[in-house]
Amino acid sequence: MDRIEEELNKLKQNNQLRTIPDIESKTDGKIVINGVEYINFASNDYLGLSTKEILRHEFLNKFDCLLSSASARLLTGSAPEYKELEKTVANIYGKESALIFNTGYQANLGVVSALCGKGDIVFSDKLNHASIIDGMKLSGGEFFRYRHLDYENLEKMLQTKRNNYKRAIIVSESVFSMDGDVADIDKLIELKKKYNCLLMIDEAHAFCAFGKTLAGVSYGKDVDIITATFGKAVGSFGAFCVSNEKTISYLINKARSFIFSTSIPPFNIAWSNWLLTEKRDYIEEQKQKLEHLTKAVHASLRLRGIQTSSVTHIIPLIIGGNEKTIKVSEQLRSMGYYIPAIRPPTVPEGTSRLRISLTADCRLEDFEEVLSVL
Ligand code: PMP
Repeated sequence: MDRIEEELNKLKQNNQLRTIPDIESKTDGKIVINGVEYINFASNDYLGLSTKEILRHEFLNKFDCLLSSASARLLTGSAPEYKELEKTVANIYGKESALIFNTGYQANLGVVSALCGKGDIVFSDKLNHASIIDGMKLSGGEFFRYRHLDYENLEKMLQTKRNNYKRAIIVSESVFSMDGDVADIDKLIELKKKYNCLLMIDEAHAFCAFGKTLAGVSYGKDVDIITATFGKAVGSFGAFCVSNEKTISYLINKARSFIFSTSIPPFNIAWSNWLLTEKRDYIEEQKQKLEHLTKAVHASLRLRGIQTSSVTHIIPLIIGGNEKTIKVSEQLRSMGYYIPAIRPPTVPEGTSRLRISLTADCRLEDFEEVLSVL
């Protein structure tokens, strides 16, 4: 048996083997896998924009742009659509400038590894996304991970370590992807000022989905660098970073995931921008729908005495072991609900869970049915 086979077998034995599901189609709030339709509680399309046929048809009737950019932005891969979308997201966040990346993964990877070099340090929440961890690993600097949302732990690290390094960056998600809890941005700002650090916030799960404005949790706050994706609540593809002009110019020159990769097709960029500008009212409407549903769902959880750290549209139902989590997920699937088991390494060992993500197209009755099964 070679090493690849050995490792695959080990994953299988630990119930950690991943396979790609045979998804046939997705419509509003539903998903069809192997010919069977399920209620979809696993989508990051929080506003349901990606499956709205009427939006898609309206867009397709209006736009005719290139389907490939055929190059990186710095060569021939740029187009007017990029500048427009960058202006739109910079405005949404009230920041000077923006830069589009191909994915949220590439944005975090590129930003963290560009800003942290030899002699620098990153302080990262323990539950930050893999793209932030990989960015830290790729950077020439050092990194420390503080306990999840534990700002006393972070401050202790800052006290003992900060002065040994040149540039220091504190990085956190705003809404955490697997737990649905929210970082205390004001506290992070206080700490970054006290210890002379940059603050970077990943708004992937909050942008257009959670918070008072479309901007998520960081709007109007003294956050130095914000990243977010178009592939979740915006129902599109790609990602961006907003910051001041100087930092964006630095990233254009130093973020390798930006420099060395063919940029997203203009067609897709135009779709993101069209939704965020022409369809802004509809986005606000769907966001409100999601907010109402989220409130009702949390009230229902409280009523049943189910404790959760989540205050958002992402609800983790932590089961513990891999095998049991898979069984519960399969049982729910046999009843028509698609909620895949989330296992390590995506979440810490022993905290396998069903991650329910609510979208504007979900129904409270369906959520309650899931709870009653559990
Ligand atoms: N940041 C967070 C917090 C995420 O959850 C994800 C995706 N799950 C990403 C970044 C990566 O975004 P993308 O899917 O656009 O690569």
